[in-house]
Amino acid sequence: MPANLIKGDEVAESVRTEIVKELGRIYDETGLVPGLAVVLVGQNPASLSYVINKEKQSKKLGFYSEVRRLPEDISQDDLLEVIEELNEDEKIHGFMVQLPLPEHLDERAILTAIDPEKDIDGTHPINMGKLFSDEKGFIACTAHSILHMIEHTKQPVYGKSAVLIGRSNIVGKPLALILLRRNASVTLCHSKTVGLADICREADILVAAAGSTGLVKGDWVKPGAIVIDVGVTQVGDRLVGDVDFDQAKEVASWISPVPGGVGPITITMLMWNALEAFKYKLEI
Ligand code: NAD
Repeated sequence: MPANLIKGDEVAESVRTEIVKELGRIYDETGLVPGLAVVLVGQNPASLSYVINKEKQSKKLGFYSEVRRLPEDISQDDLLEVIEELNEDEKIHGFMVQLPLPEHLDERAILTAIDPEKDIDGTHPINMGKLFSDEKGFIACTAHSILHMIEHTKQPVYGKSAVLIGRSNIVGKPLALILLRRNASVTLCHSKTVGLADICREADILVAAAGSTGLVKGDWVKPGAIVIDVGVTQVGDRLVGDVDFDQAKEVASWISPVPGGVGPITITMLMWNALEAFKYKLEI
């Protein structure tokens, strides 16, 4: 029997419903709304469309929203000044810098300049460290979205074998820690892993985030596994994932498609983190 689909829109909608309910409750009690900002440097078309979506969604949900559009050739010092302004701005409870940044800018230095309490993208070393030490902090939106997708299946994570392909700071590493915290046994794989296919065949939960089209074949999937395809590669006019979907859906019990899987949830998780930042500020 083909696998059940994990539809990103459905997962995102259930998170949005919770956000709207919580915003309404806080507004009734305090008369305040959370503020969220996105910093966009340059005109990268993918970033531009992502930022437009973020702005639309945040306004629709009831956030105060700002986009700081900055020129491609902005200097490191001028960008750091904008970050400092947002750190100090009382209306803004959380903000993110849209990546990638132009090459002349030092991405690590920029992300580290964000106040960790406003770091709703979860990329500041302090928030990563909090995840490492099991403290409450912001979690990178993509990893957090994948957790919601797994939870959407209502299958237990406790004691399960989770194999993650890709060890980036925004997907594999934070997700490994999140799943460990939920008592999964986690194997984190990468481009130098030997015997990847056999490792995947043991996975109750298989997450592919390599950016390598068709990497995961149907016979790499354990019967009944949950398969989350995070990879997105533009092939001609199509977006293609890391998993051979047609083969894998015949073996898995749950599978996410590309497009329509993780993508639609990540923006919603940014709103979720902005709401958390707001509640932290209000001490509620
Ligand atoms: P990255 O380039 O930082 O990391 C890729 C990881 O995959 C590395 O750890 C690398 O070792 C591993 N890898 C690459 N090829 C491999 C192979 N053949 N076998 C095993 N491991 C391999 O990338 P990233 O930023 O983590 O993104 C990964 C993919 O997820 C990309 O396709 C990206 O577009 C996609 N992505 C999607 C969303 C979304 O919202 N849908 C968000 C973030 C990333």
